[in-house]
Amino acid sequence: MPEIIVVGAGVLGTSVAYRLARAGARVTVLEATRVGGGTSGISFAWTNSCNKEPRSYHDLNVAGMKAHAALEEEFGATPWWHGGGRVEWKAEAERDAQRAKVSRLQGWSYAAEWIDRKQLLELEPDIDPAAIGDAPIAWYPNDGWLDPVVYAHAMMRAACRLGVKLKTQTRVNALLVEGGKVKGVRCETGETFHADLVVNCTGRWSNDTIGASAPNVPLEPTVGFLVFTPPVPASIQRVVSSPLCDFRPDGAGRLMVHWGAADAQVTPEVSEHPGMAQAALVIERLTRILPGIAPVKPEATRVTQRPIPKDGLSAIGPVPGLDGYYLMVTHSGATLSPALGAMAADEILQGIEREELADFRPARFFT
Ligand SMILES: Cc1cc2nc3c(=O)[nH]c(=O)nc-3n(C[C@H](O)[C@H](O)[C@H](O)COP(=O)(O)OP(=O)(O)OC[C@H]3O[C@@H](n4cnc5c(N)ncnc54)[C@H](O)[C@@H]3O)c2cc1C
Repeated sequence: MPEIIVVGAGVLGTSVAYRLARAGARVTVLEATRVGGGTSGISFAWTNSCNKEPRSYHDLNVAGMKAHAALEEEFGATPWWHGGGRVEWKAEAERDAQRAKVSRLQGWSYAAEWIDRKQLLELEPDIDPAAIGDAPIAWYPNDGWLDPVVYAHAMMRAACRLGVKLKTQTRVNALLVEGGKVKGVRCETGETFHADLVVNCTGRWSNDTIGASAPNVPLEPTVGFLVFTPPVPASIQRVVSSPLCDFRPDGAGRLMVHWGAADAQVTPEVSEHPGMAQAALVIERLTRILPGIAPVKPEATRVTQRPIPKDGLSAIGPVPGLDGYYLMVTHSGATLSPALGAMAADEILQGIEREELADFRPARFFT
């Protein structure tokens, strides 16, 4: 069995390390900070395939949702993954697109239906009906959300039980390449690690990790800004998407809140804190939907960047012209990671090409 280095211990790196180890590979995971210390620790992490096109990308995300559900049988319990479905209503200008989306999803056999206000209030009694007005309400019963750090830790712990070595606080800064073949990695301390194959799972930092030692897949990361409430008197059980903001439970009565327009009001360098004006604005929008939680102030804010390849789709697989190197970088990693981990392990160890990944090869950026 080959000796493999996985760089990065977010949801993707831990998923592939676990699957490689399950299949018998000798694996070392090198992580610059801590398990889940990158984007995975600052993610809305809604597991879904609602807005994913083309069809092959939709199907890949559905495979991710199914893989999360299947882990229950393998692990006995999956406290990191929550079903519960998702409710969605839209501003007037977006309702035609919403209707078209629900029709498309139904045509693709994705669980999507319309419910009325009474049904919504049975699901989420704390929502103020006035915030919905006469908007049609879509209901996606199979959507859910992930606690990504809890998931990554569980995959990492299971991998370590199978013999995987984890080195945290170990930052890689180049591949070791000889004659077009990757032989390992070099860390910023100068320490080197040798392997038959290197899997780069460093997300938004994928190109910094390898520098000029391998071809770079162009990324267009976007900034994500999340705001958290303290525990509040609302029994929210699922992901809620509305024109005012999106929110979901985040443990012990806390809510995680995202408003797309607020992303543009912060930069990755901002020194974020709960007192910032953008956070107050997001929470004010939330209280228009959940008036019973007022008065409430933000308890925490988090900012990071989404690891998005230039065309918005996943980049999974070998990079042309370099043997022994496998790249995994994608948005929607919270949804995709258990499926991508299993598919990548099959490709790496069995030398097969999973057809589900055919549209997502890094090679498309180098033709
Ligand atoms: C605000 C926001 C909302 C999101 N919402 C959703 C959603 O609703 N649904 C969904 O499916 N996805 C969502 N995503 C995307 C999802 O979170 C990411 O796709 C996923 O977390 C990426 O995981 P990863 O393991 O590839 O990267 P990361 O979690 O970033 O892991 C990479 C790891 O590599 C480490 N690292 C970096 N450089 C080096 C180096 N040189 N050497 C060693 N280690 C290194 C980092 O410390 C990090 O731990 C969202 C993202 C954001 C920011």
